[in-house]
Amino acid sequence: MTDNILTDSHIHSCFSSDSDTPCEQIIQTAIKKGMNSICFTDHNDYGYPLENGNLMFALDFSSYVDTLSALKERYKGQITIRIGVEQGLQSSYSQQINAYDAKKQLDFIIGSSHLVYGEDPYYKEYWEKYSVEESIRTYYESMLDNIQTCTNFDVYGHLDYIVRYAPNQDRDYNWHTYEDIIDEVLRALIAHGKGIEINTAGLKYGLKEPNPCHDILEKYHSLGGEIITIGSDAHTTEYIGYKFEQMKDYLLSAGITHYTVFEQRQPHFICLQ
Ligand SMILES: [Zn+2]
Ligand SMILES: [Zn+2]
Repeated sequence: MTDNILTDSHIHSCFSSDSDTPCEQIIQTAIKKGMNSICFTDHNDYGYPLENGNLMFALDFSSYVDTLSALKERYKGQITIRIGVEQGLQSSYSQQINAYDAKKQLDFIIGSSHLVYGEDPYYKEYWEKYSVEESIRTYYESMLDNIQTCTNFDVYGHLDYIVRYAPNQDRDYNWHTYEDIIDEVLRALIAHGKGIEINTAGLKYGLKEPNPCHDILEKYHSLGGEIITIGSDAHTTEYIGYKFEQMKDYLLSAGITHYTVFEQRQPHFICLQ
């Protein structure tokens, strides 16, 4: 039984190209915020376009695991530290993705769509070639391809995250437009024993709901999905556990009475009532 969600399963540190927050600062802030466990999930993305000639999101895996293993020991008794990775899924890189962490040192792998068939929807060029509806549909289609080919992940990250970058964000977006393909995505995840995460970062970008939206969460559960992790996707300390105080009701209102944390790639269920 728990009142609040005191574990954050999606946090980035300076091991990610888009964060410069030291790991230890994250740990100390999480302790101050009363968290009882956190999972680092730094970025690894294969085939990411170079930025100013620099390789992006290529995680230095051994240094990452060594650093976090030492910190895990140092803070034992104060906070539980788990080691995860946010792996950018792309069917064209499924071999590398499926062979990742062969020595099984990780607790958790979030599989996320950051690129859609090699293109980044973060940039406006992505949205200029096709209609918004086609561009969003392609995103969900690529997700289905990823699930059929990439097996080495535990939950799909920020499932409807594309709406963050759509020209009008979520204002023109109605998930029912894509319900057929979202349904296929959810069924494929469940059939492969995969979960989803609730990612609260969208709330700081002005979205009305976390990713995925309430209806998709409810649908995942109604189709038989049971694995749901909660993550802030913080890249700076202020966002650790961001809006988690709202997430218990968010889950309960979708008929879900537990959430999940992963340890050594195994799901553990925590009851909310
Ligand atoms: Zn992500
Ligand atoms: Zn992330």
